[in-house]
Amino acid sequence: MSEDNKGEDIKGARKAQACPICGKPASDAAKPFCSPRCRDVDLHRWFSGSYIVPGSENDEEDGG
Ligand SMILES: [Zn+2]
Repeated sequence: MSEDNKGEDIKGARKAQACPICGKPASDAAKPFCSPRCRDVDLHRWFSGSYIVPGSENDEEDGG
């Protein structure tokens, strides 16, 4: 008789983070992105997007 191992033992049960840009599995070199390129894309987005600047008030009075 041979023991049949039904249950597959998954050794590498680690959480595979997906790249927030393209969705590919993140790479150890550019976590949490899949590649430095996607990291740059995200960075650019962040800068281009609306970011909050502390101590930056635009007081423009409207002449009425
Ligand atoms: Zn990516």
